[in-house]
Amino acid sequence: MEATLKNRLLCLGMNAPDELKEGRKWGAGPAGGRYVLVHDSVTNVPIFGFAEDSPIHLLERDDKHYVSDGGEETKVDLLDNPRFYDASTSDGVRMWMIALAHGNRCLGSTVYQRCVRWELGDQCQFCGIELSLKHGTTMEVKKPHHLAEVAEAAEGEGFNHITLTTGTANLKDKGSRMLSSATRAVKDNTKMRVHVQIEPVSKEEIKSMHSAGADSIGIHIESLDRKALERVCPGKAGDYDVYFEAWENALDIFGPNQVSSYIILGLGEDRNETLAGIDRMCEAGVIPFVVPLRPLDETPLQDLIPPRPEVMEEFYLHACDSMRDHGVDPAKNLAGCVRCGGCSALMDYYR
Ligand code: SF4
Repeated sequence: MEATLKNRLLCLGMNAPDELKEGRKWGAGPAGGRYVLVHDSVTNVPIFGFAEDSPIHLLERDDKHYVSDGGEETKVDLLDNPRFYDASTSDGVRMWMIALAHGNRCLGSTVYQRCVRWELGDQCQFCGIELSLKHGTTMEVKKPHHLAEVAEAAEGEGFNHITLTTGTANLKDKGSRMLSSATRAVKDNTKMRVHVQIEPVSKEEIKSMHSAGADSIGIHIESLDRKALERVCPGKAGDYDVYFEAWENALDIFGPNQVSSYIILGLGEDRNETLAGIDRMCEAGVIPFVVPLRPLDETPLQDLIPPRPEVMEEFYLHACDSMRDHGVDPAKNLAGCVRCGGCSALMDYYR
């Protein structure tokens, strides 16, 4: 039941009254959502755009909240902004400009808020990384000492892991040096587990992020259908096979169950090619972090809608079976998106 409801919420969104609508509208990764706990499972539920027509409604009664789906009501907890959102760093920067709460245990920060692919004009068509900068809701570069202060404040409120992602800073280290400095600063000042996300880089660069203290890594191929990748991620498409090499190197360094990749569904991908690609990933030991497309305003894919829940369910169940068949255990992943689970029902189907 839990997995089904979460799957429906991530695909259909929820129709929320204006007074309960808040959340980051742009940025790296699946923005545009409100964090709720559904049976203790963090869910980053879409509330803008297509979600305004969702058949699932968010209700408030006697200071309690429910989602009503087809007449069935389920009690949920809306996650409020953490206290550190009202605080500033020692040099006066608002902490929410540095990192945001991704649920109630995971912190998220885009260390470098630009991407060379936006300059080159071959950016991923679903990506909103530079839009939050354009709208003044974040900073271009998150300095290590700022991240250390925010992570320390957040740790005091129960956050125990962090996702550090980056736009591709250049075509050499792709931002891995910035990620290493950020990781080291968080590790030197907190007990948090650290997840880093980056495009494929050399084994040396992967090693440097691990030596800085990173516990898990995401190298996101986005789609396992080559044609869909060419269409939607023109800058990344040429590297299809490079991803498998980078994952292999990352597994050597980070160890089993610590390497994952987003697989975004709803990009017009071929079903069979995607299922076969998921098997190939699991065979290699990589966690296929299956997520429904999150169409963001002001991006080329803003008018698309996510796949239907029943379509997503087939991919979740297939990924879970394939992970079990190949001895991949996402429950052992130490930090970041797989552990957080806010944008995917994968772990809810796996449990
Ligand atoms: S899965 Fe969690 S950490 Fe990852 S982008 Fe979604 S909310 Fe953030």
